[in-house]
Amino acid sequence: MSTNSNSLENTPHILVLGMGGTIAGLASKPEDNPLDYRAGQVGVDSLLTHIESALPSGLTLVSKQVANINSRNLSEELLTELGNVVRSALASPLVMGIVITHGTDTLEETGIFLQLTCGTHALDLGKRVILTGAMLPSNAPRADGPSNLLDAIRWVSTPIDNCPGGIYGVMAGRGCLAMDLAKRHTSALNAPIKDSPSSSVGLINPSWLSGVKAIQAAWTEDLPIPQADTWPWVEILTSHAGARAQTITHWIKANVDGLVLAGSGIGGFHDVWRTPLDEASSKGIALVRSSRTGSGLTYQDIPEKDGVGCLAAGSLAAPKARIALQLAIYAAKQANLTGKPLTWQDFFARIADLPEIR
Ligand code: ASP
Repeated sequence: MSTNSNSLENTPHILVLGMGGTIAGLASKPEDNPLDYRAGQVGVDSLLTHIESALPSGLTLVSKQVANINSRNLSEELLTELGNVVRSALASPLVMGIVITHGTDTLEETGIFLQLTCGTHALDLGKRVILTGAMLPSNAPRADGPSNLLDAIRWVSTPIDNCPGGIYGVMAGRGCLAMDLAKRHTSALNAPIKDSPSSSVGLINPSWLSGVKAIQAAWTEDLPIPQADTWPWVEILTSHAGARAQTITHWIKANVDGLVLAGSGIGGFHDVWRTPLDEASSKGIALVRSSRTGSGLTYQDIPEKDGVGCLAAGSLAAPKARIALQLAIYAAKQANLTGKPLTWQDFFARIADLPEIR
């Protein structure tokens, strides 16, 4: 294996992008308490050096540090930067595939962002982009980062007819579509992939693969990447016992572009929100309704008829629905600038209606 030398960028290679996270984290007393650590401390080149001896021979790896953060602090600016780096790397004939090391807290947001902005591009070019991370810091005795990174590199570099180009995630020996990543456990080693439709990285399951292909066939046009300062402002509001109308009126006054409601159960929200939400909608605020349960579907007009313009999020949980709504609002604005009378609903419906892998 060779890594990180500028001259290698001129030979066919796999690009490994570092974003930070626990995979790049360091604990002060790793033997005593590996969960007491700081994320984003170690460079991606060092992460590769650690697994050098286990890598398949003949691979050329080039690494690039895009950021080194705790992903709970992920910003829209960084998503723009990452999206642009991924797009131009995909376009390079010298880049055979891309691995991204990332914090797991917001892996699902980056996963859906890359799927919606680069997924078709990756499929058409027959290249895989694989997100991975870790639940234990790099110096923990049983750190999971090295095996996750190895799995991602092996998967990105295996023959393409086994699995098509696209945006994927790998954790704890399993792979899934990046848009199916969903961290629903605080600390389990498979937390970001636990409840996601996934397949063993070693032996790809045909029924999972046919689900992947169905989604890829339905997602035919990537959405534009917002510039760093042009991301629409969208907040997530959770419905709960004792919810107040003022929560909605507060955000109307703040001039948000959109609200994602994380409703209870099947996606209903507290009755006190009904009138202020109608007001939000009449003021042009985009409304999407999802469920705070974290899994299952949210259907249009269930449990009650939706207010004018409000869309159900389908299988998207609130954090993913938020990114999807931001990209849909931005895509509609761009379309309108070129004279196409499309709405955010036109774009969002395409995302929420994507088939599910069962
Ligand atoms: N807080 C960490 C992060 O998202 C957690 C992790 O990487 O697992 O950066």
